Amino acid sequence: GSARLVIIGGGFGGASSARFARIAFPHIDVTVIEPQRSFVTCPYGNLLLAGSKTLSDITHDYGALKRRGVNFIHDWAEAIEPDKKQVRLRSGKTVSYDKLIVSPGIGIKWGALPGYDQDAAKILPHAWVPERGEQVLLLRRQLEALPDGGVVGFAIPSNPFRCPPGPYERISLVASYLKKHKPRAKILALDAKDAFSKQGLFQDAWNELYPGLIEWVPGSKDGKVVAVDAKNKILQTEFGIRHKIDVGNVIPPQSAAKIAVDAGLTNETGFVPVNPYTFETIKAKDIHVIGDANIAGPMPKSGFIANSTSKQAVASAIALLEGREPPKDPVYFNTCYSHIGDDYGISVVGVFRPSDKGFVETPNSGGVSPRGPLADTKSQRRLEARYADSWYASITKDAFG
Ligand code: FAD
Repeated sequence: GSARLVIIGGGFGGASSARFARIAFPHIDVTVIEPQRSFVTCPYGNLLLAGSKTLSDITHDYGALKRRGVNFIHDWAEAIEPDKKQVRLRSGKTVSYDKLIVSPGIGIKWGALPGYDQDAAKILPHAWVPERGEQVLLLRRQLEALPDGGVVGFAIPSNPFRCPPGPYERISLVASYLKKHKPRAKILALDAKDAFSKQGLFQDAWNELYPGLIEWVPGSKDGKVVAVDAKNKILQTEFGIRHKIDVGNVIPPQSAAKIAVDAGLTNETGFVPVNPYTFETIKAKDIHVIGDANIAGPMPKSGFIANSTSKQAVASAIALLEGREPPKDPVYFNTCYSHIGDDYGISVVGVFRPSDKGFVETPNSGGVSPRGPLADTKSQRRLEARYADSWYASITKDAFG
């Protein structure tokens, strides 16, 4: 029979891999192992919090991939057995592969932030993994129930974490909701870091659109949350201050998803080191790890990078399988758009290449949106909000369509 490409995870990296493999290598048998029947994207989930998108707007089913001939097994991958080249499923069945692509996303390090476990997340949601959108809907309901004059707290982790600008987009869009519906409410954003992605652009926008609404506290000014008391809704920072909040979004410390950790693919960072040309893991042959589960700094953990790198990973895996050289001189692209308010978008672009020392950002290639007062940048911000919508439509098509 045909050679078998098996993919763990049907999110940005996994679905993009499956679709690309069917188009570029139609002679290969492609199977995705993914427990969910449809996928809720984290990107654009913050717009659900703002009230401008619904769950169905950000949900994608696998019908189109199935029609392209991708086989789906709706189950969890429980273990990877590299010696036997097989994946063991939760049901007990096994699936053999010739090449394996692993894109299971992040795992939350439960308990790494004292007081923050699965039960605490039912009170102070993280809303940082897709999981049918349950967490993001919970946060939305809590915002709707927030009394005017209440405090929305954020706990933001140190690097590396999924989607570097994500917390700040979320703060912005929660602010946009509060400004319209609870004008006396406030945001307290407690950050473990002193600097963040697109910081100048975000802070300019906060001053212009939401003056006095958002207090952002950097790590050096006691912003680092070191413990959580979910029952009493308290975020405790390093110097011992207990911040009482009404609604809280705790973005906890992260690692690669459990399957990658259990398979022994991760290193001391908690993520999976990979060959930057092929995405094959350093620790096991015939296994290529893409998306947020790998450690590929300075590339960010983004859906855009998961999609962009999936193609090189698949093409390399198939080339190696067939005794050819992996594609030479790949370039990996990233653009992270963030919405800050209605018709207000910003972006950061990065271009990366592999080298023998790892991933390298190509000098003078990327950058961020121009800075300046809203009077001068209004049409640019409006355009970028539309570009962001187009990006969302095209990446979800390139993954799930
Ligand atoms: P995922 O997309 O999370 O997919 C992983 C899949 O693997 C899931 O479907 C899961 O069910 C499955 N899985 C896990 N374990 C197993 C197992 N054992 N067996 C089988 N299947 C398994 N990125 C952008 O580029 N632009 C944005 O604007 C953007 N906005 C974001 C906003 C927020 C609030 C957040 C949280 C993230 C955002 N991101 C954005 C980041 C983006 O969501 C991730 O980088 C992207 O999802 C990574 O893709 P992935 O394939 O690694 O993981």
